[in-house]
Amino acid sequence: MNLADKDRRFVWHPFTQMSEWTEPLVIAGAEGNELIDSDGHRYLDGISSLWVNVHGHRRREIDDAVRAQLDRVAHTTLLGLASVPSIELAERLVAIAPPGLTKVFYSDSGSTAVEVALKIAFQYQKPRGRPERRRFLKLTEAYHGDTLGAVSVGGMELFHQIFNPLLFHTHHVEPRVDALERAFVEHGSELAALIVEPLVQGAAGMLMQPPGFLRAARELCRHHDVLLICDEVATGFGRTGTMFACEQEDVAPDLMCIAKGISGGYLPLAATLATEAIYSEFLGLFGDKRTFFHGHTYTGNPLACAAAMASLDIFARERTLEQLKPKIARLTARLSEHIAPLARVMEVRQRGMMIGIELHRAPGQPYTFEEAIGARVCAAVRKRGVILRPLGSVVVLMPPLSITDEEIDRLVTTTRDSIVEICGR
Ligand code: PLP
Repeated sequence: MNLADKDRRFVWHPFTQMSEWTEPLVIAGAEGNELIDSDGHRYLDGISSLWVNVHGHRRREIDDAVRAQLDRVAHTTLLGLASVPSIELAERLVAIAPPGLTKVFYSDSGSTAVEVALKIAFQYQKPRGRPERRRFLKLTEAYHGDTLGAVSVGGMELFHQIFNPLLFHTHHVEPRVDALERAFVEHGSELAALIVEPLVQGAAGMLMQPPGFLRAARELCRHHDVLLICDEVATGFGRTGTMFACEQEDVAPDLMCIAKGISGGYLPLAATLATEAIYSEFLGLFGDKRTFFHGHTYTGNPLACAAAMASLDIFARERTLEQLKPKIARLTARLSEHIAPLARVMEVRQRGMMIGIELHRAPGQPYTFEEAIGARVCAAVRKRGVILRPLGSVVVLMPPLSITDEEIDRLVTTTRDSIVEICGR
């Protein structure tokens, strides 16, 4: 049995209709911004291995940092013990985070970072005598992960509807300032927190928030004594052009969730950052039962923290964010030259390195779900040596920040040729 056969036999893949999983592409290696399959074919990693890779694969500095940590210890627990890399990384995360976020609670995925934020926001209300503040306000079409708390504050019909009976009650609002103002008037007094993906709602199809929305959300939260949770799981670590998306609207949230790019896309690591004001409500004697009773086994894993610090070193040494500006501009130019004019392209949405190309048959005529147009375009892209993964009829491009000029051009022209092949001109 070859590897593909064994995969079909033994592995159940996420977000995948396994009955249609016919010819799995088996990745056996990588170099720079390319993935290499088990037959030695190379593919440009156009979605950063699901929005995580930052500086390319097999970066020597990150590889070395993980190896060096392996020579010390691979894993110890943060329950009752501290570890060198988790301490050092926490200090560095606080230094780069928006002001006021001073405490780092580690976990291991974007979903767990969100669960932690929700539970902190909920528990925080009790000691300060506001137990009636127990609801969450979320954005329509939000996506914060797949665990049940994260799904409760999500709003993607396709992924979430079936689990409705298992979810807690929330309020939702369109990402518009007037709608948000109304929601606060209506529900403000019962809210523990508003949770948002800042600037870009990624999984919803790279939906861009109107300028000023995040700022307004910050002000409304402050005015109504509601916590602001910014889920920077997708947007963090340079993806929108700044280290965190919040910075672009000069916003400092009360709780910030980070994952994906935190370890350079190497190892599972996440964190929920909190303000001193929140943290202090959890302090007291053990008998006071203010302890935050939450934790995951691999929380703050030393190998992952070592990778994260090596990634931050690269950001500093190579001035990654500065180098990114001309790349973003090149992407914008290439997209408007090659993609936007296509008749089947309804809209190109871009914020930094996060891009959604929405396809339609014609104005007012969307492709149906069953047509799986995005998936078909991505299959055509793959034949041309690029890996993409769609969101419905939105083709997503989210290359590593390390993508080169030539690779940008290849990414865009390959996508154009594939859209033309599958959708016509
Ligand atoms: N939050 C956001 C904004 C995300 O985009 C994602 C994943 O795409 C998550 C949370 C969940 O992260 P994970 O898949 O690591 O649980």
